[in-house]
Amino acid sequence: MAGMTCPLCHQPSTWKGNPWRPFCSERCQVTDLGTWAAEHYRIPGPTLTMDTSLSDSLERDDDTEEQQNH
Ligand SMILES: [Zn+2]
Repeated sequence: MAGMTCPLCHQPSTWKGNPWRPFCSERCQVTDLGTWAAEHYRIPGPTLTMDTSLSDSLERDDDTEEQQNH
């Protein structure tokens, strides 16, 4: 088994089960591809706040009681 080293950070990296080979990590692979790719990965997460204002309590005054007095 030949020891593999990351071409970027020169740290020992594993080949088996390594999706970022020959790099040691995704970060090294992205950095090697270029900063543009790195920025591509850094997607600004939109702060999606689940506003519960939509589910406003719609108070329906349905007071229609059918009273059948027979
Ligand atoms: Zn590396």
